[in-house]
Amino acid sequence: MDLNRVVIVGASLAGLRAAETLRNEGFDGEVVVVGAEPHRPYDRPPLSKKLLAGEWEPDRIHLRQPDTFDDLDVEWRFGVAGAGLDPSAGILHLTNGTDITYDGCIIATGAACRRLPEQSRYSHVHEVRTLDDAMRLRAEIADGGRHVVVIGAGFIGLEVAATARQLGNDVTVLEGAPAPLIRGLGEEMGAAIGAMHEARGVTLRCGVQVDRLHDDGVLLAGEDGAEGELIEADIVVVGIGVVPATAWLGDSGLQLRDGVVCDETLNALDVDGSVVPGVYAAGDVLRWPNPLFAEEMRVEHWTNAAEQGAAAAKNLLAAAGRGAGAPEAYAPVPFFWSDQFDIRIQFLGRASADDAVEVVLGSTQPNEDGTVKFLALYRTGDRVHGALGVNAPRWVMKMRGQLMEQASWHDALAHAATLA
Ligand code: NAP
Repeated sequence: MDLNRVVIVGASLAGLRAAETLRNEGFDGEVVVVGAEPHRPYDRPPLSKKLLAGEWEPDRIHLRQPDTFDDLDVEWRFGVAGAGLDPSAGILHLTNGTDITYDGCIIATGAACRRLPEQSRYSHVHEVRTLDDAMRLRAEIADGGRHVVVIGAGFIGLEVAATARQLGNDVTVLEGAPAPLIRGLGEEMGAAIGAMHEARGVTLRCGVQVDRLHDDGVLLAGEDGAEGELIEADIVVVGIGVVPATAWLGDSGLQLRDGVVCDETLNALDVDGSVVPGVYAAGDVLRWPNPLFAEEMRVEHWTNAAEQGAAAAKNLLAAAGRGAGAPEAYAPVPFFWSDQFDIRIQFLGRASADDAVEVVLGSTQPNEDGTVKFLALYRTGDRVHGALGVNAPRWVMKMRGQLMEQASWHDALAHAATLA
């Protein structure tokens, strides 16, 4: 394959890492990066924490410092998005009506917030996905004393709840599921984290479905379709999950199923399941079969976006005969972290709904000074599946080898016991 021009669609973490990797691997052709937002690539984790708290300003969250930005020799097109892809002709269509021809394409368009009906009609309702979103919310909660209702006790919901509470606001979190963070941590550990929020002054109501927004707050779903309870709020934050940003690929012939479907090397597949030469994906937007866990995954966290951006770029080069060796399967142990109050959550591996969970070091109960520290392991069959550390970075990181090896439960317990 001739590889003279690579276009990267999406100018956030995965897209930036892809561009950096192309250059680091010696690719000297053209690299064009298209980004829908007007900003240079920035880091999203601080949006719900340090930046929202007012501790950091926007100039602190650059993913690449301004003085080294031009060294990459990349053509950046900000404020314009992908509008369509024609892989057989090698053409990317843009929302401004122009086209870019390419030999290689990396799709890194991420995900967009799910919304409630008529959400944009309400000026007191916020979401937190972009820098502009976070700055808008920050201006509302900075002085404290507001009643903030957060819908959804996922990562965004709980991080925003903690920040808003620390700024002196009255915070209520409403979650449809029986416990917070169920998708990431499962019900038992999600409930443990929820109790820590309650102990720090957040009102948490689980098992309540928000039906719709209201001028004075939010309305819960009532019995048998009746109008439910009104929860009054000055500020509402909607954190009810994201959907992969694939709408623009509708006519591309790529296989789309809650994301761009890829093979083990992150090469996109078409609707018949054949690889689409030259088209790769990285970040929240794709699903792929992770051979290490024998599971198809779509991962919505920072580390995955960074590592997948690099892996997609390397595999694109390798497939074109421009890199060292052949394309390699992307087979990581997934990892994420989240900071909420004084609680640092770190998770390696996976948590499935039917995993058994055991706290193997420390305790979910607070110490005398109110702090919490523990390591919990997740078990699928007779194998270790995941490791959760709360304020226990050394313990959790030292479980990585066990997850890489897909160690037996017995061996994982024995290894954890050596860490105390
Ligand atoms: P999320 O983690 O998927 O959580 C959304 C929660 O909202 C789910 O528990 C969901 O329950 C609940 N929900 C949905 N509809 C609801 C309704 N009408 N009423 C009440 N609850 C409702 O998504 P998120 O917190 O919005 O985060 C967005 C994205 O940013 C995710 O990709 C997340 O991984 C990422 N992020 C990551 C980090 C981190 O890694 N530290 C931090 C912030 C954000 P059901 O699942 O039952 O629908």
